[in-house]
Amino acid sequence: MINDDIIRIAGAGPSGLSAAIALARAGRKVEVHESKADVGARFIGDLQVIENASDPEPVPAFLQRIGIETNFYVRPGRRATFYDAGGRARTVSSEEPYCYFIHRGPIEGSLDRGLLAQATALGVDVRFRSRLDPAEATIVATGPASPDGIAKEITFATDQSLEIVDVWFNHDLSPGGYSYLFALDGRATFGCAIVSDFKNIEDYFDHSLAVALKVHPIDTSRELRTGYSYMNFCIKESATLDGRPYVGEAGGFQDYLFGLGIRYALTTGNLAARSILESRDFDALWKEQWPKKAETSLANRVLYEIAGNAGLRSFVKQASSARDFHAYLASWHKPRWWKSAIASIVRPLWRNEGRCLHKPAVHWCRSKDSQVKVPPLGPVENE
Ligand SMILES: Cc1cc2nc3c(=O)[nH]c(=O)nc-3n(C[C@H](O)[C@H](O)[C@H](O)COP(=O)(O)OP(=O)(O)OC[C@H]3O[C@@H](n4cnc5c(N)ncnc54)[C@H](O)[C@@H]3O)c2cc1C
Repeated sequence: MINDDIIRIAGAGPSGLSAAIALARAGRKVEVHESKADVGARFIGDLQVIENASDPEPVPAFLQRIGIETNFYVRPGRRATFYDAGGRARTVSSEEPYCYFIHRGPIEGSLDRGLLAQATALGVDVRFRSRLDPAEATIVATGPASPDGIAKEITFATDQSLEIVDVWFNHDLSPGGYSYLFALDGRATFGCAIVSDFKNIEDYFDHSLAVALKVHPIDTSRELRTGYSYMNFCIKESATLDGRPYVGEAGGFQDYLFGLGIRYALTTGNLAARSILESRDFDALWKEQWPKKAETSLANRVLYEIAGNAGLRSFVKQASSARDFHAYLASWHKPRWWKSAIASIVRPLWRNEGRCLHKPAVHWCRSKDSQVKVPPLGPVENE
């Protein structure tokens, strides 16, 4: 028999666990169903970032406001080296962190394990290997449904003292995306993220890794892991289906420029909890802020792609000559009338009548990319 007092959440990613933590803090009974055997199973202990520029509220204050403790690895990012298509390296730096590095995946100290520990300490019943049909869920937090952008990553162990935060902005190495090498506190991640020509991900990965290793001839074989993963880019008119909030990437909440969706996942998970606790409409809550952000983010993506490598070269140059990289990045996230104009032109081009995997149905996405065959997703076993 179903006990209607229990709030059921499908998915134990950042969005689902953020919702669970807020609800449990308010004394509600919560069940989180996770289809995999552990949290963060599609990641491989990779370094990711919680970006600190899309909103004036700094990440530590944001986490505190939504009731999330930092019981996981966190390292502020203030410097990086960016490479343009000509291979020219430029340094960016800022006083205030432009991001906070974290680990993702089923490893000790990761964001995923930290959120899980907080949820269970608050009494949330987290059930693994339990796939919940969205129709049975109170909140749907199932992550990306369709590969609109894909990434191949490796992680490996390094010397504790090695510090690298390098990003290559070059459409020939990673079309529509970027490649990155991060090494901090003994763990490294190299990744190549692309948004088109998915069938050639191996070539893009190999080529961009070779470029990175030429700059940093380091050993990548220690505790080597490989994984494929993906992200969603779709813009919803409503993120509620049959009265159920769709949060995080399941609801299309993503940063369309760089694919940095963690902050939006945590935010919308918390908003879904608030919608239940305050008996408010979830769509009304996220629409207080998100449409402007989505519009700006969409315009940024269009500019990123159509400006080609010349545009990326100018981006790298401006980022490094800016007095403060955090402020420069924040300026990209500021709504502008001309970004609204770009978004209004692009939306009809991306209009989709709902034949793809993104749900709820009425939305904008690039469904033709979503239909392309991609490598098996998730960690590669038996290395
Ligand atoms: C390679 C890569 C690097 C990235 N780097 C960054 C970064 O540096 N910074 C950043 O901000 N973002 C980054 N992102 C994006 C970020 O990881 C996601 O936006 C974020 O994880 C979304 O959280 P979520 O809770 O919506 O979904 P997920 O993290 O995908 O969690 C969804 C969970 O639901 C489970 N699930 C699915 N269906 C069901 C079901 N029916 N029943 C039960 N459980 C189910 C899944 O197994 C999964 O555990 C990256 C993404 C990729 C692919």
